Amino acid sequence: MSETWTVLKMLRWITGYFQDKGIDSPRLDAELLLAEILKVDRIGIYLNYDRPLDSHELELIRPLVRKRGQREPLQYLLGYTEFWSRRFQVTPDVLIPRPDTEILVEEALRQVPEMLGRILDVGTGSGAIAISLAGELPKWEVTGFDLSSAALAVAKENGQLNGLDDRISWINGDLASLPQQTYDLIVSNPPYIATSEWDALMPEVRCHEPQMALLAEENGLLCYRLLAAQAPSRLTKGGWLLVEIGATQGAAVKQLFQDAGLRDIYLREDYAGLPRVVGGRRD
Ligand code: GLN
Repeated sequence: MSETWTVLKMLRWITGYFQDKGIDSPRLDAELLLAEILKVDRIGIYLNYDRPLDSHELELIRPLVRKRGQREPLQYLLGYTEFWSRRFQVTPDVLIPRPDTEILVEEALRQVPEMLGRILDVGTGSGAIAISLAGELPKWEVTGFDLSSAALAVAKENGQLNGLDDRISWINGDLASLPQQTYDLIVSNPPYIATSEWDALMPEVRCHEPQMALLAEENGLLCYRLLAAQAPSRLTKGGWLLVEIGATQGAAVKQLFQDAGLRDIYLREDYAGLPRVVGGRRD
């Protein structure tokens, strides 16, 4: 005889299962997966506590719960996430945009009061930064640049989903040689995890997100060195280079910016009080 699984019973079961698997927010993740399958929002879960799941819904939820239990990120299972109040598709080809990275978007908007210009987003991944900036700066030309053509395909789709694809060029290339062009603003959330930090990452990140978007040589600093070195030839006069950094990298990245001859170098903390963005501009 088959058991009846009501929404509440399923919610409790999944929450317990996720708890056993060491997941940070077991109840929330259970709610979000159930909401996705039932095609309701989170409130809809509470309104449907007594409703039994049908066999089709049971079939859909089981593999998702199993994969989340294996620490696949929730966002990959849902297929999307939110960033800067927009929706972005995410696949394992792209790093999942983090709320912390919104600080980089905020800084970019603070530093570009002029009416128009050109922006380069280096290592654009899902396109989250490029698309968010294109949305806020309607007169600016935006280019998203990435080594991964698979990531660029996701970014392009995200541009279309957000109705901004005609404003953005997507270019495939290595950040060691940026496009031969000058920009008024270069932004980047490059890979910055040091090899020594790798083993301590959460399994969601370490086992499922693209390593090429995370790991960087030279103790996590390689990309900053390459970006800073090219900044003088790729920025317009007074143009800004703004990068996201790891919490321990502030002093080293500021030094790299200084060595490259940038001025007005500063560090911005995130809302948790951790160093998050370093900026500097061309003379
Ligand atoms: N902040 C990311 C993390 O939590 C790292 C992002 C990056 O390397 N650019 O793992």
